[in-house]
Amino acid sequence: MPAKAPDFPAQRGNSYRDTWCGEIRADRVGGEARIAGWVNRRRDHGGLVFIDLRDRTGLVQLVFDPDDSGTAFELGHRLRPEDVISVRGPVVERSAETVNPEIPTGAYELRVAEAKLLSDARTPPFEIEGRGASEAGEETRLRYRYLDLRREHMREALLLRARIVAAMREQLDGDGFIEIETPVLTRSTPEGARDFLVPSRLQQGSFYALPQSPQLFKQLLMVGGFERYYQIARCFRDEDLRADRQPDFTQLDIEMSFVEPEDVIEVNERLMQRVLAVAGIDVELPIRRLSHDDAIARFGTDRPDLRFGMELTDLTDQLRETEFRVFRGTIDGGGIVKGMNAGRRELARSELDGLIADAQELGAKGLVWAFREGDGWRSPTAKFLTEAELAALNSALGAEEGDLLLIVADQPKVANQVLGTMRTRLADRWGDIPAGANAFCWIVDWPLLEWDEDEGRWTAIHHPFTSFEGDIDEADPASIRARAYDLVWNGSEIGGGSIRISDPGRQEQVFRLLGIDAEEAEARFGFLLEALRYGAPPHGGIAYGIDRICALAAGTDSIRDVIAFPKTASGGDPLTGAPAPVDERQLRELGVTVRSPAPQ
Ligand code: ASP
Repeated sequence: MPAKAPDFPAQRGNSYRDTWCGEIRADRVGGEARIAGWVNRRRDHGGLVFIDLRDRTGLVQLVFDPDDSGTAFELGHRLRPEDVISVRGPVVERSAETVNPEIPTGAYELRVAEAKLLSDARTPPFEIEGRGASEAGEETRLRYRYLDLRREHMREALLLRARIVAAMREQLDGDGFIEIETPVLTRSTPEGARDFLVPSRLQQGSFYALPQSPQLFKQLLMVGGFERYYQIARCFRDEDLRADRQPDFTQLDIEMSFVEPEDVIEVNERLMQRVLAVAGIDVELPIRRLSHDDAIARFGTDRPDLRFGMELTDLTDQLRETEFRVFRGTIDGGGIVKGMNAGRRELARSELDGLIADAQELGAKGLVWAFREGDGWRSPTAKFLTEAELAALNSALGAEEGDLLLIVADQPKVANQVLGTMRTRLADRWGDIPAGANAFCWIVDWPLLEWDEDEGRWTAIHHPFTSFEGDIDEADPASIRARAYDLVWNGSEIGGGSIRISDPGRQEQVFRLLGIDAEEAEARFGFLLEALRYGAPPHGGIAYGIDRICALAAGTDSIRDVIAFPKTASGGDPLTGAPAPVDERQLRELGVTVRSPAPQ
């Protein structure tokens, strides 16, 4: 059974309460209850005061009647939203006309005999119920996050998160994994981002790095003989601002010994099936697999959304001999022509112009649009292509009468990226994504390395510790295949991992390819290379982004909705004011001098 907390946790009756608000139901009628919580809403009605009282378990109606509440009635009259009270009194059925079918306690109410104000509340900056919070804007919601957290939507999201994490632990514990903590104050682990640094007071001039992931420690745990490890790990990456990234985030980190990719995949498919069942999401096994190259060829991305079609088609071969300058020039320059059949659509000229603008904003030089008409096209570009070419393109794209065709000619990376992004954007805009659908896939057969144009060197696509098939061909690093696998859900990468290099010689080879010479490798990763020389088992693992998984499971676009105290897109916390300057004295103790910020 999926992990689930009891709806009404047992508690000792005390001076505040003996019953949860949500427990006021049929079996309590005729008895008395003491409950406590926040005033959700107050209504005065024909001399009576009605209050909806809220605790973690829901809402219940209180009635303050001048005839039976005495002094409590005075208090009832003064109460304001978000005041905290404790009340005692008999539980009764509501009269038929006042039943509220919307809430589980809606047929009952508590008639207040005694009431205590435990804490009064200022007028909150936004209403807790209704649309108040969304109208207030995110900055205000985060500034007053403790109020935002009182909303049902937030409570539900964090509850779901807790259940998802509990299911992860239960499943992995059951599969013989051992939960082990690794340090937060550590040395840099390269996962492709900048490190957050912490100055050492005791060794001035030296810095700890906060872990970008527990990668090296989990490998050391395998050398240490644990064989199956996991951790719910806080990770830190100092990346440039990007929507929906957090500088600190949580991973489910896993590592196993004596495994091949197939073993890791098998354990993880069962894990995901179990974990997502908690959110009512069905994961059909086995999860489909796509090679990295197929994913790029067919969907333009290594994170394909497989909930809908609109696949991409390479049209380069059909156009090698074309006289149309734009296509021919691109092909002769090493580029490709790629197209997408967007299906039968009726779009105004202004919408088509909008698509061109979208493609340009995404980095393409332009976009060709066309509607199949008879054997040819209705398109401003049709006149540049021969009848034979138009027929060949229609056939390659599987175009039927009236279908909209979108074509980009560019370097492969640009063409794929532009069409891949347009594919998901348009499917979303046109409502082509079936509601409630979920599609999972493993991306396998990754290249190990990619050429970084800006830095003029090869970089690791996953990280430098990823193992690879066969031997390294130094003359053709692009051909080396990684033993890596990523898990993609509805177009989001939710996890990624690999078999690791367990042979120190192979690890040194990869460092060399990445431009890390022996001296630097020794200085930065000497401890890993040394450990690998003391009998390292073959090992591999994976890590999942828990924030992303919870956001998708909760059906929200923003990971901030499933994090209790998130930071804004600029990395700040409006509630605590972090990051903040520190005292001169603290800096002196650390031996740190702050240079004036670089001019913008
Ligand atoms: N350390 C990797 C990451 O954080 C995951 C892994 O390879 O297990 O992405």
